[in-house]
Amino acid sequence: MKIKNKKYKAIDYIRIPIKVNPIMGILMIFLRIAVASIPSLQVLATSRFIDTAIDIFESGGMYRIYTSLIFIMILVAFSWISSMLLSFIKLRIELSMNKTFRTAVVEKRSRLAYKHIENNETWDLISRIGKNPSEQIMKGFRNLLNIVEYGVKIMGLMLLIVSQVWWVAIAIIGIAIPLLTLASKSGKLDYEAFSTAQKYKRKADYLKEVLSSRESVEERSLFGYTQEIANRWLNRFELARKIEYKAMKHNFLRMKTASILTAFLSMAIALVLLSPVNNGMITVGMYISLVTAAFNLVQQMSWQLSVVMQEYVKNKLYLKDLTRFSELEEIQGVDGLPDTSIQKIPFESIEFKNVYFSYPETEKKILNGLSMRLERNKQYAFVGKNGAGKTTITKLLTGLYDNYEGEILINDRNIRDFTQEELKAYFSVVYQDFAKYHLSLKENVLLGDCGGTKNQQIERDRVKRILTDLEIMDVVERLPKGIETSLGKLSEDGVDLSGGQWQRVAIARNLISKAPIHILDEPTAALDPVSESKLYKLFGKVSRGKTTILITHRLGAARIADEILVVNDGVIAECGCHEELITEDGIYAEMFKAQRSWYHEK
Ligand code: ADP
Repeated sequence: MKIKNKKYKAIDYIRIPIKVNPIMGILMIFLRIAVASIPSLQVLATSRFIDTAIDIFESGGMYRIYTSLIFIMILVAFSWISSMLLSFIKLRIELSMNKTFRTAVVEKRSRLAYKHIENNETWDLISRIGKNPSEQIMKGFRNLLNIVEYGVKIMGLMLLIVSQVWWVAIAIIGIAIPLLTLASKSGKLDYEAFSTAQKYKRKADYLKEVLSSRESVEERSLFGYTQEIANRWLNRFELARKIEYKAMKHNFLRMKTASILTAFLSMAIALVLLSPVNNGMITVGMYISLVTAAFNLVQQMSWQLSVVMQEYVKNKLYLKDLTRFSELEEIQGVDGLPDTSIQKIPFESIEFKNVYFSYPETEKKILNGLSMRLERNKQYAFVGKNGAGKTTITKLLTGLYDNYEGEILINDRNIRDFTQEELKAYFSVVYQDFAKYHLSLKENVLLGDCGGTKNQQIERDRVKRILTDLEIMDVVERLPKGIETSLGKLSEDGVDLSGGQWQRVAIARNLISKAPIHILDEPTAALDPVSESKLYKLFGKVSRGKTTILITHRLGAARIADEILVVNDGVIAECGCHEELITEDGIYAEMFKAQRSWYHEK
């Protein structure tokens, strides 16, 4: 199943469950319609039962009661069995929904253009849709079935009433119309309040995370901000609660007034129906069962039906979100495996020719006519102030954004002509916020080369070699199961590593990849300048002979590079080796002087 790019309508709440499980979906609809017909049949059965009973009092013949009694019993048994059957069917559909629809949402998510991930608004939408997609559709499905059920119930009873005394039916329609309008209006108001409350709730949820997450535990105790953040959390939570409470209060009052009115009207109907009974137009049995049914119906319309309508409005708004989600641009191949066949063509060069770039929906030119050429088997360092655009260059190179002007070429071929799978096979990147997988150490490293060999021993040896090169084998040997040790706290015997050790694991993952270009995008930002410099030097030594790009705003680490490119004002302002740039006495030299003390140099 795929999330189609289209406008989602209420009918999709029925279409999707039928698509994921046709038999159970259709069975559910039929069964619900059958259950909805029970009240009308019950009116017929009960009226016959009462009339026969009265007749038996006058003229005897006890046996005559049995047919109506059996009919009533069948109806009761059916409604009992069908409620069990319905729960079973619901479960089956839910399972299929999770398997098919939820997967489709996750797949669409993974194919989304990167700009949607970086944009706060679309990311919010993506998180909302991704939270409980199957449950939301099931809610909508149940809600539509409830509407169908009420429709069938109402129609059935209306038909009965029309067949007895037509004008009573008109009176009921008169009550229903204003009620439905009221219900739909309060549903909308409810949703608006709900979405405003949701905003505060999201902020409250974030603060709750700060208060309880493991990541912030050290800072929490160091800065002692728990009370302060707890107050803020309470404040947001209270705001959300008050908005919801107010909406519910109004709603409740509206609904209660409406139900009192309808209760009066149903009593009026019961009174009005008395005269046809007197005239013999309807039987006593029919009167009793019709009045009971009318009471039930009016009660359902005034209370349950309004709840159902509110749900309907809420669910329709979810469809709006789903429609927007389905419209989000996807990039072909972003969820595919790297196409390693491209690695057979030797990598020669990367070239930026006059590249201009602004992030979507922003004005500022981050790259402003940037040109440069990188060649195989050399080590490059991109340096420049924070925010100069160094990471942006790698985002363009790896195909995350393609709304740039100018040309980016790999081996003199436009990167727009490469597939996403091919681009992925070219680059191996360690980002600043690199992932820490709660898997074994070996698996953490091997994720960098998913298509590697299947021979366990060879794989183990490769991992060990890289870890030895990165000088953490001594740490690994102390781990209870060596490279097979689980990292993180998910498994009972899991071991957590220090920040610096995790960085080396991430770098090992980068190095094991067969991609021709290895990029380190400040994964060392959390380290002090001297340690960063040491780690970059080590990386430089290990990756000698490979094409590497180091990104850093701290120059000590850049020194080892064959060529340093200084990014400034969206262009490469200076370029050359360390000594050349110092002699040039420009931006680099100035930055180097300013940072010299970090490295204890005079
Ligand atoms: P560097 O890596 O040199 O520190 P970046 O390339 O990360 O700098 O960022 C360059 C500029 O682009 C910064 O001003 C940053 O605020 C801006 N920027 C980065 N990502 C986005 C984004 N997704 N949307 C808008 N602006 C962005």
